Amino acid sequence: MNLILLGAPGAGKGTQAEMLTQKLSIPAISTGNMLREAIANGTALGKEVKQYMDGGLLVPDDLILSIVAERVKQPDCTNGFILDGVPRTLAQAEALDAKGVRVDHVVSIEIDDAVIEGRMTGRRVCAKCSASYHITANPPATEGTCDQCGGELVIRKDDAPETVRKRLQVYHESTEVLKDYYAKAGKLRIIEGNQSIEGANRDILVAIGAEV
Ligand code: AMP
Repeated sequence: MNLILLGAPGAGKGTQAEMLTQKLSIPAISTGNMLREAIANGTALGKEVKQYMDGGLLVPDDLILSIVAERVKQPDCTNGFILDGVPRTLAQAEALDAKGVRVDHVVSIEIDDAVIEGRMTGRRVCAKCSASYHITANPPATEGTCDQCGGELVIRKDDAPETVRKRLQVYHESTEVLKDYYAKAGKLRIIEGNQSIEGANRDILVAIGAEV
């Protein structure tokens, strides 16, 4: 099963992708995590994308497409994958189609911007494995420490309030058009994001025809 998760930054894509990975035994591919890793490792790609990410802007399509095309060819994607945060533009969606990357369902997690701005201030991510938490909605067992790998939990640089507003604006301008694109293909599944993490997860499983 090949899935795409759409939704504004802070809509809960990362959290849902992690849950779906466990449930469906297919990997979650987050371009945001891959890019942050490239920055942390000081690679050429990392140096190229840092300024875009720090400013809440989209990284150029060609860079994104080459890392995604490479990633979905890996053996762990044989039974499917979850794309989290990609495609983000119509050009990316068309290019994935042109490259023969098949998509079964496109899940759009919908939530008001005002709710998102509130949520983002509480988000913490693991500096080591990128697992995502929220200080009240989804706290780790031990404050400041990742449940999965023991890594330190940090605030993402682009979760600063001004950058969040910029990212929301970019989302509405560039990514919302994707909903029409996938609706026309009969693949769009809309999910209410303003509910509990478990509730949204159940709705997603139902929408994609998986066992709840
Ligand atoms: P995310 O972790 O998905 O919120 O992504 C964080 C940042 O990474 C975005 O604000 C962009 O700068 C960059 N990024 C991630 N995925 C993409 C993509 N598919 N297209 C362009 N930029 C991306």
